[in-house]
Amino acid sequence: MLEVVRYPHPTLRHKSKPLRRVDGEVEKIVAEMFDLMYRENGVGLAANQVDLPYRLFIINLEADPQKAEEFVFINPVIARRGGAVEAEEGCLSFPDIFAPVKRPAKVAVSAYNLSGEEVEYQLDGLFARAVQHEYDHLDGVVFIDRLSSAALFSVKEALTDLELEFQGRRQRGSIPGDDRIFARLAELESLRAICD
Ligand code: ZN
Repeated sequence: MLEVVRYPHPTLRHKSKPLRRVDGEVEKIVAEMFDLMYRENGVGLAANQVDLPYRLFIINLEADPQKAEEFVFINPVIARRGGAVEAEEGCLSFPDIFAPVKRPAKVAVSAYNLSGEEVEYQLDGLFARAVQHEYDHLDGVVFIDRLSSAALFSVKEALTDLELEFQGRRQRGSIPGDDRIFARLAELESLRAICD
């Protein structure tokens, strides 16, 4: 069963590897990720937020399978970025933390979908923002890295609370040590990712 990992879990800082192929196992992972994302009321979810080291994220802009289309981005590449716009963001790995982030307003992104076909989108608005936020996750970048110093200051206390919660869970043994986390990621990469 997949679970959303929260800041400061080390997998959130792991640079994900491209998937070798889209197979039944990837389909299963994606289906589980959508279930989890809807349960948590999110519009996007990246693989390393569920403790998996793959270049894969999903998006549904309404957080509801009845209301909007489901998008799967496998091995995505952002080819072009344009403009700049600031808007509030949140993240399932940072519960109850919201802050303004400035990002390019438009992006062109290509990726593979769940049928293994190459797809390309020219995006703006919330879709462009969500894609950039999730794409950052794959590189181990999280939205608080992109906050102004004033915005970062305003969420500092909430971040400290999450850090203490993480340390507590680790002391109780419900989160393994870094060595075990990294060994597991390496094993999952050797199974399904392109490693160099
Ligand atoms: Zn996020």
